[in-house]
Amino acid sequence: MIQLTNINKYYSIGHNRLHVLKGIDMEIGEGELVSIMGSSGSGKSTMLNILGILDSHDAGEYKLAGHVIDRNLSQTKAAWYRNHLIGFVFQSFNLLSFKNALENVALPLYYQKVSRRERNKLALEYLDRVGLKDWAEHLPSEMSGGQKQRVAIARSLISRPKVILADEPTGALDSKTSYEVMELFKGVHREGMTVIIVTHENDIAAMTQRTIRLRDGVIETAVPELMPA
Ligand code: ADP
Ligand code: MG
Repeated sequence: MIQLTNINKYYSIGHNRLHVLKGIDMEIGEGELVSIMGSSGSGKSTMLNILGILDSHDAGEYKLAGHVIDRNLSQTKAAWYRNHLIGFVFQSFNLLSFKNALENVALPLYYQKVSRRERNKLALEYLDRVGLKDWAEHLPSEMSGGQKQRVAIARSLISRPKVILADEPTGALDSKTSYEVMELFKGVHREGMTVIIVTHENDIAAMTQRTIRLRDGVIETAVPELMPA
């Protein structure tokens, strides 16, 4: 589903150039539930933003669902890929505060020019899936953090993407709510979706199938477990 080959990313700060991703090679198969861990500043968000075509790499090759994602992609093409292939979930939910839950979930379909009637019908189905059918008319300000994240997950799914990218989706939630959100991701994964979750919490990473560790812009190679003597 995802192949990164020797991906490099730099940020310029004044006259300095910060090498943030240093030759990342990574492969994630279709239907995998993967976590990306690493300390603050290790490059997790930068990597997820490149995977999500919110940012572009400076060197290397990125392949997503059979498409080579050129680093000089036009804005229009990048938006098309984002709308059709990728669902995003963020730590801070990123819901529109003046739109109710139903409208927030329906929003990706608006950009795909789906009729209002069809948008709302589907949005209600997806709200139902995350257990929030009765909250359709509520504004984000009337909902708890866990409920807002469920709305965001419904929104990420409604366009039937190939992959869900979540950047610290439980970072703003207590542990009970975090586990409920992770159960949702696990359910989505069981239905065949590829899900990639950035986290710095061990218990969250332990709920995924595989953990990729980033350290200073490099993927740590797994240390084989010592065999008992
Ligand atoms: P993480 O998500 O693992 O905490 P980030 O990917 O956000 O790490 O950041 C990696 C490094 O890149 C950090 O040193 C950060 O300060 C720097 N960085 C991130 N975004 C930018 C940017 N837009 N401009 C300059 N430096 C940035
Ligand atoms: Mg980050």
